[in-house]
Amino acid sequence: MKKEWLTKGNHQEICCGNCGSIQNEIAAMDHHSGICSNCNISCVWYYLTNENVVQIIPEFAPNSIKLFIEWCQSELDELEIIELIIELEKIGKLD
Ligand SMILES: [Zn+2]
Repeated sequence: MKKEWLTKGNHQEICCGNCGSIQNEIAAMDHHSGICSNCNISCVWYYLTNENVVQIIPEFAPNSIKLFIEWCQSELDELEIIELIIELEKIGKLD
């Protein structure tokens, strides 16, 4: 399986970008680093809504993303990061 730094799913099913194993215990927003329960790779699980759960694996991510995540972890709390992601989404959708 190709190593992905970003995978998307929902709270019932999201595949790990490293090992491909399905995770179904992501039930809370925590922007601090966690691990995949199968392969133990360090990653962050962003639980935005039931339908929108994201895994980011900093080890595989572009350096800018890695630095951005570190900044978010030290400067923002859980609610602020959700807000930030929603606002970034708006920027990405501008036309
Ligand atoms: Zn894994």
